[in-house]
Amino acid sequence: TTRIVLAKRPHGVPTDECFRFEEVQLPTLADGQVLLRIDYLSLDPYMRGRMNAAKSYAMPTEIGDTMPGGTVATVLESRSSSVTAGEQVLSYSGWQTHAVADGATVRRLDPAAAPVQTALGVLGMPGFTAYAGLRNIGRPTAGETLVVAAATGPVGSMVGQLAQRAGARAVGIAGGPDKVEFLRAGLGFDAALDHRAPDFREQLAAAVPEGVDVYFENVGGGVFDAVFPLLNTFGRVPVCGLAANYNLTGLPTGTDRVPALLAGILTRSLTFRGFIQSEWAATQFDDFLAEVAPEVAAGRIRYREDVVDGLENAPEAFRGLLAGRNFGKLLVRPNA
Ligand code: NDP
Repeated sequence: TTRIVLAKRPHGVPTDECFRFEEVQLPTLADGQVLLRIDYLSLDPYMRGRMNAAKSYAMPTEIGDTMPGGTVATVLESRSSSVTAGEQVLSYSGWQTHAVADGATVRRLDPAAAPVQTALGVLGMPGFTAYAGLRNIGRPTAGETLVVAAATGPVGSMVGQLAQRAGARAVGIAGGPDKVEFLRAGLGFDAALDHRAPDFREQLAAAVPEGVDVYFENVGGGVFDAVFPLLNTFGRVPVCGLAANYNLTGLPTGTDRVPALLAGILTRSLTFRGFIQSEWAATQFDDFLAEVAPEVAAGRIRYREDVVDGLENAPEAFRGLLAGRNFGKLLVRPNA
């Protein structure tokens, strides 16, 4: 297999020196194992956190370890009773072209039910993140207004569409005119805004005449600053991700805004609740698939993918993910 290992911990944006390509011989299969050819590797913002030494909700990737990641693969050889050669599976094999896995840890995919790579996006972890954050924390109801940024990505695009199904108005925020146009025309958001526009704050205020009831927090940064004053009493903020911060190397300078933030939370009775989707995966993932998969199959919930060919292009694609150069769920085809 060709694989990419973590060579060095990044300071800021992960440079090429942080990644090392290695050619290694895979071990022969033991009982219960399967040999996989990776068809799709999912690139996700959380991987940036794993590159740091600090322990987060998951252990950091060690120097010299294969970069982690969800994958869709074809079984080339099986010594497991649960899968046979030729089947496609969801595995967690990381940044490589081939892998050996325990047959019990992979999930079989039905290519007739949905394109297999959707198990990494709209029908996988990111789609479920949107579902779980709304069901358990955001709880949008009819007539309310929801705002979400990174809205063309796999989490944000699902957040907006699920909020609309609950009867709420969905306002999407994204970087650049093409993404904004896609939010409006492609995904049917009620309003869409470019966070890079010089008058973004004014545009946002105009787009939410009745304030914001749910802010699904994907990015932090300037978008948070613009949304916070617009949150209504009893507003809910599922704190899902802070993509604007992942490459920061220190705290921002300037006035301490924590007192104003806490005062706003207090006086407007706001609920901020952080979450990791795995909290609800065991109990709610099946509900998610049962509710959402038929809608995706019927084209009533839409999604977009951004597919990059060649494992050698994964580091640059990953840098692009945190800078907004991806347009839709970012996937790499390591063997293409
Ligand atoms: P995306 O494909 O949406 O990629 C991240 C996007 O963030 C970029 O494309 C960019 O979009 C946007 N972004 C980056 N910097 C800024 C900025 N300064 N201001 C505004 N937007 C910015 O990723 P996902 O859909 O996979 O993930 C979305 C969020 O959800 C991430 O924060 C991720 O960490 C989080 N997440 C959390 C999980 C959990 O369990 N809590 C699970 C999965 C994801 P644009 O071009 O529009 O600016």
